[in-house]
Formats: sequence, structure tokens, C-alpha cells
Amino acid sequence: MTERRVAAAWVPAVILAAAFLALTLGAKAPAPGGKSPLQDDEIVALLRDYLRIDTSNPPGNELKAARFFKEWFDREGIPSEIFEFAPGRADLVARLKGNGTKRPLLLANHMDVVNVERPYWSVDPFAGIQKDGFLYGRGALDMKSTGLLEAAAMVNVKRSGGGLSRDLIFLATADEEVGALGAQWVVDQRPDLVKDAEFMLNEGGVIDEVDGKARSYDVGVTEKCPMWVKITARGRPGHGSQPFARDNAVLALLRSLERLSRYDTPMQVIPAADAYFKARAAAQPAGRAEKYRNVREALKDPEFRSSLEADPLLNAILRNTIAITMLQGAPQTNIIPTAAEARVDIRLLPGQDPAAFLAEIKKVVEEPGVTVETVGTYVPATASPVESDLMRAIERARARHHPDTVLAPTILTGWTESALMRPLGIQAYGFEPYVLDESEQNRAHGNDERISVDNVVRGARIMEEVVRDVSR
Ligand SMILES: [Zn+2]
Repeated sequence: MTERRVAAAWVPAVILAAAFLALTLGAKAPAPGGKSPLQDDEIVALLRDYLRIDTSNPPGNELKAARFFKEWFDREGIPSEIFEFAPGRADLVARLKGNGTKRPLLLANHMDVVNVERPYWSVDPFAGIQKDGFLYGRGALDMKSTGLLEAAAMVNVKRSGGGLSRDLIFLATADEEVGALGAQWVVDQRPDLVKDAEFMLNEGGVIDEVDGKARSYDVGVTEKCPMWVKITARGRPGHGSQPFARDNAVLALLRSLERLSRYDTPMQVIPAADAYFKARAAAQPAGRAEKYRNVREALKDPEFRSSLEADPLLNAILRNTIAITMLQGAPQTNIIPTAAEARVDIRLLPGQDPAAFLAEIKKVVEEPGVTVETVGTYVPATASPVESDLMRAIERARARHHPDTVLAPTILTGWTESALMRPLGIQAYGFEPYVLDESEQNRAHGNDERISVDNVVRGARIMEEVVRDVSR
């Protein structure tokens, strides 16, 4: 009741403010000869619909999401095609023609999301819930919002009559979170769909907020290379009632892993890390700022060094990392198993030799009966230039929306499909225009993943501005 009264009292002011904004920015006025752009509430409603499509991977079911985009693009008269490369698994590609004076811009996103641990969510993760100024749902951050805003930018360009210097290619893929089958299918089977693109905008960095203040536009220019490893210990099986120490697979595995957990990889400053620290120097207190400007030298100071090591992100961009993530022994409590197994998530910096690193790991875990092997394939990391037209377009958007921030090239610690697309000659960048502090960012892959309506609305503007700016 109270809420309704308050809301009613505010209506005139809201209408006035909206009218003022529309007049001053011209944001919602139709372009000459074009249709009105998507309204903010339409974009929010579309995102809620998209969040309602359960594309938890495994199993994925991305075909449903591909159909969502296809129907939308059909309504807007933008040609698109669905490629169902396996039952229920599909990519979608849409293309809006420009005048061809510049090579295309690829707007890339994945439609699948990671699974949820339902008991830990306070809302239904697939109901498109809007609550307290936030949209809740698996994929709200990773990365259904960005996919939707990329499509919205394309729709608005189409509605305003097109006329860009580049084609816009919208690529929505399946299976990024598990095996990247969708992006790999494009690379292997239909590279013609994307490979003339000059730039790619993908998931990656965000607008980083610290202590309630936007600090930097983080743009991913490279990412670490995941190398997943299986460590297996084999021994003598037995009954849990009569334990023994020799030839015991579980005990051998524990000893190996204990050594691995204490193993420190050397710290190293690659050029992108150097640029990362330099860009953030100004936001640091005076003494620390000096160290950020010359981080290579500053690492010799043990106190500074341990302050970086204590920060999981900074630590990860300065070294190859090793995370022990899965453990498996007997299928039941009263068995001493023949084999025990651990999985380890290793992430290598660009420019590393994966075989040499694996040999190092083997030495660390060496133990009778213990073997080490890689699981799946790994693609060595690649990088895009720190200076480019797309970077400059993002920089101009930054100056308009958040003049007090800096543009910061970033090394992503996670893997993205950019790593598959860069070898096709595409300069791929990871940037998602949302102001997020660490605790909000951590909801990606976590519980109660959400994005604020403010971020969606402002993000839609920034996305469209960047797309238009780099395609003038
Ligand atoms: Zn993602």
C-alpha cells in the first residue's frame, strides 16, 4: 500500500525526468526514416525471458536459446541461422550488413551456463526474477546479459537504418562452459562465418568497482591457458577394517598432493601484466602507486610481494597457478581402493611451454605408483594488441560515462572463446560494460547470480555506443 502511494507521488517527476533525458540525449527518439530504438524496459523484459531459458551445461540445450534469438532477429528483419551441430546443441549466427569499408565486428557470446546448486539459491535461478533493483538468474553475469545486449545493439542499429562501415556478426555459441564444442565447430567447420572479422567483443573484463566507486574499465587482451591434469595413485586394495600404510593408493595420493599444494611457481611479469599494474597505479595510495609503476622491480620487496600473493587475482596474473579441485577414492567407506585420483586445474601464462611445466609437476608429485597425465586438450594463450580501434572506442565510452576511471588492459585468469578466435586473425577483446565490485563479480558461477537493472540499462547504452563508434 505504502509503496503504491509513494510510487504514484513520484510518477510526474519520473515522467518529467524521462522526457528531459529523451530530449537532451535523443536516446529514445526514432532516427530519421528509422524505427524507435528498444526502450529500457523492453531490454530488461527480453533479458528476463532469456534468463528463463535453462541452458545449464551439462547438458546445455542451447537450441532453445538459439531459437529465442532467431525469433527476435526474425521480428526485426535481421538474417540469422541456427546450426544444430549435435542434438539440442546449436550455435546461432546473425549478420547485419554494413557498407563494407571496414572488416566486420564480431559480437560473441555463449548461451550455455554452469549448473546451479539449488539449495544455496534464495530464488528460482531460471524464473527471471526481478527483485530490489536486480535481475536474478544463472547467466545474469556469465554471460546472458552481454549476449542480450550485443543483440540489442544490433537491433537498434538495424532500427535506425544501419549504415555502419562494418558488418556486425552476432555469434552465440553452445558449450563454452564445458568443452567449447560450439565455438570449436565454427572454427573447424564454418570459419567462413566469422573469419573476415577484424575485431571481436566477448566476455571478459568489467568496470571494476572498489569501495563503491568505479575505478577501471578492464578489457581482457589475453587469457591464461588451462591445462587440466589427472593424478592417479595405484596400490593394493584392502578392507577398511585392516588398514596398512605400504602400497596404499589414498595415502600415496595425499603425500603427492601435499607436496603439490606447497609448490610455489615463480612469479613473472609478462608485458600485459606490466600494462595492467601501470594502468592501476594512479588508483593506489602514493607508496604503492610507485610500486605499481615498476612492478618488476617492486616484486623484490618481500612485503609488497606477499601483499600481491595474498590477492588471488593479482597472484594469478603473475604466475602459473595450480588448484587441486577434485578427489576420488573408494566407492564406499569400508574399502581401501586400488586407485585414488585427483584432478588439478593448472593455468599457464601466455608464452609458457605446457610440456615443460607438466614435467615440473611430475617431479613434484613423484611417488611410487603415482602417475600424471593431461585431460583434454589445451590451446596455448594468445594476445590482442593493447592499442587498437576497438580499444579506443571503449576508451571514449569510458571518458563519457566514467571520466574518473582508467582503461586497463587485463589478463583474464579464466579461459574464453577469444583464445579460439584469435588464431583466425581476429583481434578479440573481453569487455562487459557493468560496474561490479568483487562480491558481485563472485556471484558468476556462484549462488544468487544477479545483475542490477542499472547495469543492464547503462550497459546497453555503452555496448551500443562502442559498436557504433568502432563502426563509423
Ligand atoms: Zn562465460
